[in-house]
Amino acid sequence: MTDIAFIGLGNMGGPMAANLVKAGHEVVGFDLVPASCDQARADGIAVAGSAQDSVRDAAIVITMLPAGKHVLSVWSDILSAVKPGTLVIDCSTIDVESARKAHAMAKEHDLASLDAPVSGGVGGAKGATLTFMAGGSAAAFAKAEPILSQMGKKVVHCGEAGAGQAAKICNNMILGISMIGVAEAFVLAEKLGLSHQALFDVASTSSGQCWSLTTYCPVPGPVPTSPANNDYKPGFAAALMLKDLKLAQEAALASGATTPLGAEAAQLYSLFNNAGHEGEDFSGIINFIRGRKS
Ligand code: NAD
Repeated sequence: MTDIAFIGLGNMGGPMAANLVKAGHEVVGFDLVPASCDQARADGIAVAGSAQDSVRDAAIVITMLPAGKHVLSVWSDILSAVKPGTLVIDCSTIDVESARKAHAMAKEHDLASLDAPVSGGVGGAKGATLTFMAGGSAAAFAKAEPILSQMGKKVVHCGEAGAGQAAKICNNMILGISMIGVAEAFVLAEKLGLSHQALFDVASTSSGQCWSLTTYCPVPGPVPTSPANNDYKPGFAAALMLKDLKLAQEAALASGATTPLGAEAAQLYSLFNNAGHEGEDFSGIINFIRGRKS
């Protein structure tokens, strides 16, 4: 089985690395936080003393870090320590520009690389049901695909360097906008005396149908498994939604795309986060919208 180095053993990286162990790989990990390292050891991951030490024998290196600056800093640290022929994969959600810089750094070291952010959250990381969206060469994708499949249920090759991150932020911009749209419709329905269930029964089988309605319905009742039925515990935290909407706005600015609804969604989630709801599920925005004066 492949020797894999896994750097960033947090909420997502920890369970993802544990699934690689379960699949039979030798996994050497590294994280700055001692508690994450302890959990990783309990999951059968060998913890190295530094990022560089974790990668020396690896055939595949995976990073799962908070943001672009962390990925660029870790990659610049480790790339000189990896063996020739090693594939380096970043699964973090980061800005497209940093993702492309990371690919360029790998190329300078003659190494194949992939940006492969995920959708599916901590539940998907634990259950190995993530969706991976990958950017990079066809050869890099072909080598990564069997490994990524052991941590997820769907692996999509989206195109060249940065295409995975582009797909991720476009998808999550749709998600942020659609959740606000669904929330506004429920708030309007309440004012019009229409029950939540009646709106759900119609819209979920009509042209208003979408994931924010049918899987993550922001009012309790119609979809019993949605976070609205569990006091808006995440799920997908509002802080992460804001992060992704900001990345989409950065990319829109840099590429000259017009995204007025994406900008408005980023603004609303920014207000929601600043009001102290950053740890709530992002569908909790309905309560914020209902409480607004205009
Ligand atoms: P997290 O904060 O739980 O984990 C990140 C880990 O990286 C931390 O344990 C931290 O100590 C470690 N780290 C930071 N700098 C490091 C360094 N220099 N060397 C080694 N380790 C370092 O975050 P998370 O929830 O696991 O998210 C990771 C990435 O996945 C983020 O980019 C996030 O946007 C993305 N993501 C998260 C979710 C989710 O639901 N949590 C869903 C999809 C994508």
